[in-house]
Amino acid sequence: MNLEPLFQQTFHSASTVHASSPGRVNLIGEHTDYNEGLVLPTPIPQRCEMLFSPRADDRVEIHSVQMQTRAGYALGAEIADHTWLDYVQAITQELQRAGHNLRGFNAVVSSDVPLGSGLSSSASFLVTIAKGLRKLFDLEITDVQIAQLAQAAENGLVGARVGLMDQMACSLGKAGEALLIDFRTLEYRSIKLPETMELVILHSGLTHSLAGHEAGTRNYKTRRLECERACELLGVASLRDLELADLERVAALPAPFAGRARHVITENARVLETVAALEAGDLQRVGELFYTSHVSMSADYDVSEPEIDLIVQIAGRTAGIYGARLTGGGFGGSVVMIADKSQGRVAGEAVMLEYAQTTGQSPRLLSPAV
Ligand code: ADP
Ligand code: MG
Repeated sequence: MNLEPLFQQTFHSASTVHASSPGRVNLIGEHTDYNEGLVLPTPIPQRCEMLFSPRADDRVEIHSVQMQTRAGYALGAEIADHTWLDYVQAITQELQRAGHNLRGFNAVVSSDVPLGSGLSSSASFLVTIAKGLRKLFDLEITDVQIAQLAQAAENGLVGARVGLMDQMACSLGKAGEALLIDFRTLEYRSIKLPETMELVILHSGLTHSLAGHEAGTRNYKTRRLECERACELLGVASLRDLELADLERVAALPAPFAGRARHVITENARVLETVAALEAGDLQRVGELFYTSHVSMSADYDVSEPEIDLIVQIAGRTAGIYGARLTGGGFGGSVVMIADKSQGRVAGEAVMLEYAQTTGQSPRLLSPAV
C-alpha cells in the first residue's frame, strides 16, 4: 500500500522517512519467554508500514488506517487513554526515558498484520515507530535495544505484561529464517528453515485481548501469576531452572500449577528438538512436535479454545499437513501448520473450509500469502 497520498492529504506535506517491520508467527515455544525459556519465531509476509516527517513543535500527530482516525499528544505529556494511541505514547515515553532526544513528528501507519490475532500487530507497530524515529532523529539505538524499549512500552503505559519474544522477532527477524531466542541469556541464533517446507497460518476468526482486563482466570496475566506461584511452590527462581527430570516433582503440585509448569518445561525441550528436526529437514518430526505442543497448551496450560482445537484436529486428517498448533498467547488467534512446499495453499484452504462450515466463524488464511 502506498501511504504517501494519505500522508500528504493528512499533513499537507511530504513524508521524509519510511519504516516497516513484519508481524511474526511463533513456530514453537509458547508462554516460555517470560519463564526465561526458549522460543522460535519467524516473520510473516504481513507488515506494519509507516511514514514520518518532523514537526516544528513537540506534538505527535498520527493517523492510523486501521483505526480510521487521527490522534495526537504533546511529547513528555504521555498519559494512557486506553486507545490505540497508547502504543505511540508508550514508545515515545520509553525512548525519552532511555535518554533519546525526540522532537515532534507526523506519522501515518497502516498494517496488514491482523490486529489482536496473535501475530504481533502490537510489537510490529511499536518496533516500526521506534525504527522510524531512529531514522528521523538519528538515534543511536540497536535493533535489540528497540525490541527492549518496545517491550518496556507494552509493559509500561500500555499495561500489557508481555514478554520480549514478539519485539525481538519483529525487530530482528529475516524471511526464511527462524530466530531461536534464549530468554535466560538473551542469546539468539538464526535457524534456516528447510526449502522443502511451507508455513500455513490460519486465523481462527477469534480475537483476544492481552491487556488482562477481561474477567476470570482465562487470560495471559493469570497464566503469568500461576507460573510465579509454581516457582514459589517448587522453590526455584524461574521455571527454566527445571528439566524433564523434574517432572515427577512437578506432578505433585496442586492444580493448576502442575500443568502450567509441565507445559513450560516440556515446551522448552520441544523447542530444541524442533530446531534439530528443522536442521535435519525432518518435517515429519517437526509436525509431531507441533501436535504435542498443541496438546500441552490446550490441556496443561489451558490457553486454547474449542474452535482452535478443532482447527488442529482437522489439520491432523488433512493430506499434506505434517503438524499444527495454536500460536501466540492463545484465547483465540491463529494456528500455524507445516506443509510440503507448494502444498500449503490447497491444504490450508481445505482446513479453512471445513472449519468455517462447522463453526460459522470467519477464518482467514494468512500464509501462504496470495
Ligand atoms: P496482537 O499483537 O496479537 O495483534 P495485541 O492486543 O497485542 O494483539 O495488539 C493489538 C493492538 O495494537 C490493537 O488493538 C491496537 O491498539 C494496536 N495496533 C496494532 N496495529 C495498529 C495499527 N495499524 N493502528 C493502530 N493501532 C494498532
Ligand atoms: Mg501483541
